[in-house]
Amino acid sequence: MTLEDIAKRMVEGGKSNAALTGAGISVESGVPPFRGKGGLWEKVDPVEFAHIEAFRRDPAKYWSIRGPFIRDLRSIRPNAGHEALAALEADGMLGAVITQNIDGLHQEAGSRSVIEFHGNVAVLYCVECRRRIPSAEAPLDDLPPRCGCGGVLRPDVVMFGEAIPPGPMIRSQEIAGSCAVMLVVGTSGVVQPAASIPLIARRAGALIVEINPDETPLTEAVSDVFLAGKSGEVLPRLLEAVRRAGR
Ligand code: NAD
Ligand code: ZN
Repeated sequence: MTLEDIAKRMVEGGKSNAALTGAGISVESGVPPFRGKGGLWEKVDPVEFAHIEAFRRDPAKYWSIRGPFIRDLRSIRPNAGHEALAALEADGMLGAVITQNIDGLHQEAGSRSVIEFHGNVAVLYCVECRRRIPSAEAPLDDLPPRCGCGGVLRPDVVMFGEAIPPGPMIRSQEIAGSCAVMLVVGTSGVVQPAASIPLIARRAGALIVEINPDETPLTEAVSDVFLAGKSGEVLPRLLEAVRRAGR
């Protein structure tokens, strides 16, 4: 299937097309992924540090990784991949982005319909009194950051060992169950239940287009088309093809 064939299907699908994104789409913005080259995995086991039990046992250790991530985000900008998805939505060629990312970069690029499967680090809340504060205002010099009440603060994200909130879970399943084309971008496809979203879409008859520099377990099992490459390069080319096909 050529880029032109995919573009034609996207023009037919319009707003019922969707995207599922993972850490890979933010790599070109300078955010390290979990797995793959330069991934956090090379330094720590993410399942270990980002597990709710690990956080409860040793919040300072959790924050020694999460603190710099949040601080670095303040100077990080969306890349051409995020921007191409926002442009597809503005053109009426994409109805939603389901993201596993917690960095907020899709919204910053202008995507409006974003389902955050794993939450977002933009907000922290106190594990004792539940008070919520923007992470931009949180004291990150002394880790773990604490609330005025003395309780430890945590980001409003889904840690390993925690359930996906029902809102995003149901919404993602609805979208997957009715989408025409699903773009699966920069995800290793091993973190459940997010990894089952493309499978739901596939079973419902969607065309699954995977974009990743490297093949994943999804490539063989569910993807109809595999576009090898960086999302910051492939997605702008796809956007151009969709615009040509829509004329
Ligand atoms: P992952 O880290 O497991 O896998 C990253 C994938 O991106 C790999 O398949 C890799 O080949 C691919 N990739 C690398 N560079 C790419 C590029 N330039 N363009 C496209 N793809 C590229 O990511 P995951 O599947 O999202 O699972 C990790 C979990 O970790 C998620 O649940 C997510 O919440 C969390 N996480 C989020 C961020 C973030 O918010 N930016 C960063 C790290 C981890
Ligand atoms: Zn508190």
